[in-house]
Amino acid sequence: MKNEINKIKYFLKNKASTLCEKLENNVIANTGIPCTIIFGPVPSRRLGLSLGVNNMRCKICTYDCIYCQVGRTTCCSTCCEPCLSPYELFCFVKKKLQKLEAKEIKVDYISFVPNGEPTIDKSLGKNIHILREFGYKIAVFTNSSLLWNDNVKENLLFADYISVKVDSVNDKTWQIINRPHTRLNLDIILKGIIDFAKIYNGKLTTETMLVKNINDNIQEIEQVGNFLKKFRSDKSYFTIPTRPPTESFATAPDRKTLDQLSDYIEKNIPNSETLFSPESNSFYAAGEIEDEILGITRVHPMREESLLKLIKDMGGNKETLLQMIIHNQLQKIFYQDKFFYSTKDNN
Ligand code: SF4
Repeated sequence: MKNEINKIKYFLKNKASTLCEKLENNVIANTGIPCTIIFGPVPSRRLGLSLGVNNMRCKICTYDCIYCQVGRTTCCSTCCEPCLSPYELFCFVKKKLQKLEAKEIKVDYISFVPNGEPTIDKSLGKNIHILREFGYKIAVFTNSSLLWNDNVKENLLFADYISVKVDSVNDKTWQIINRPHTRLNLDIILKGIIDFAKIYNGKLTTETMLVKNINDNIQEIEQVGNFLKKFRSDKSYFTIPTRPPTESFATAPDRKTLDQLSDYIEKNIPNSETLFSPESNSFYAAGEIEDEILGITRVHPMREESLLKLIKDMGGNKETLLQMIIHNQLQKIFYQDKFFYSTKDNN
């Protein structure tokens, strides 16, 4: 009798899992969304190997930063409808993780790093919650502009790792560097960050982008440092533009300035770290070669050597890259003596 019950249980379990699989495949096939929303994993200096989630159809952001590596903000907004439901996102991530596991590629984090501002998505909390099922840590990189909003704060509480942007605490510089939505107010945002730090128990880090002739002086950094001392953060990162920026003048400070700033930051800002060199070449992929490249380069313009290495690892060659350029999928950009590739706007 017991044996019979076990057989029935086994049969039902198998049937249910086949049905789920069919349903998930249907969801992916019917969203009309390309398989590029889950990208990588990509190497991250802060997170290790990070599987990226970019659940936005086009670039929607509250800012239009001069150094943005994904181009001009096409829709400067403080709210939007998500392009995927949490269940649809779950199906996409599950499929990708299965492919990665089959190749024995283990990711360290699933990260929300869309080509825009992730907290604009009202379903962010639900998305994080449902992805927890896979047992990976979840990270969100936010520009912090909506942290004054209680719903946004609540959504972020579900994540294990949050990076908040603090490029400047000076209104004039903030306007120049981040070009915010007109309804935003810097003082309110800064207070939002402090309030959020009080209630968040996960790993909280900050990120300050240093841009030549804009915020690369001791006075600016001193002001940022004084602000950072007002709340708990696990690490304060200082970075520079290493990929082609939206505005050609938004480049990295010169070497001498960087050395002076590094020295100041190290001595005066607790738990700080400067990240001035580009990330490694170790990109991974586990899907169709073109989808994988478009997914990564929509968010991370890739250096030519990294891209060619990834293509080779996936069994392609230079011709693959050439065809993607000919078919208007990728654009080639020359920046700081190197060629980079990014997804063309229409892909
Ligand atoms: S850098 Fe981030 S915050 Fe700034 S415009 Fe680009 S996506 Fe938005």
